[in-house]
Amino acid sequence: TAPPLDQLIASIAVDIPDFPEPGVVFRDLTPVFADAGAFRLVVEALAASVLEDPRVAALGGGPADQGFDVVVGVEARGFLLAAAVALAAGTGVVPVRKAGKLPRQTVSADYVLEYGTATLEMHTDSLVPGQRVLLVDDVLATGGTLEAAVGLVEQVGGVVSAVSVVVELPALGGRERLRPHTVHALWAT
Ligand code: AMP
Repeated sequence: TAPPLDQLIASIAVDIPDFPEPGVVFRDLTPVFADAGAFRLVVEALAASVLEDPRVAALGGGPADQGFDVVVGVEARGFLLAAAVALAAGTGVVPVRKAGKLPRQTVSADYVLEYGTATLEMHTDSLVPGQRVLLVDDVLATGGTLEAAVGLVEQVGGVVSAVSVVVELPALGGRERLRPHTVHALWAT
């Protein structure tokens, strides 16, 4: 029988101590994305994550409704997931990018990372007002990145159905920081 998804991810992901700086244990998911079977399971679990939450499913329009209308992914590793999740869910995908990459009018949000600071941007017209968003990234650490992304989604009129990640580092408190939004993590470590 197949192992539970969290055990599968844990067995394939690689921990890199002191990357990109001393004291950080980097959770490298590239081997998970490179594994056809694991990638498919991860993408399907992320696409189904909103359905599993009755609070969020209550936002939905019927039994076949998956609880979101579009997937938003955060540059860069979030892109690998978001496009695949959107295809699996039958939705479109919208990028949240680092500053200066998007060509048209943007909204922007500054944030503090586990290691450093940065600015994220989103096209002002990238969502239809009221559109329900599944926000996807690879790792939830302090939550600063996804908090900024939630702010951008809301600034352009979207409604966050849930924030779904492959890996959560619970010791860093990201889930609490994102309240009242629901966080789904396939693996907590
Ligand atoms: P944070 O804003 O602190 O939640 O950091 C989340 C972002 O930084 C995600 O986009 C991750 O890809 C990346 N990140 C932060 N910490 C780690 C870590 N320990 N391992 C892998 N990626 C990380």
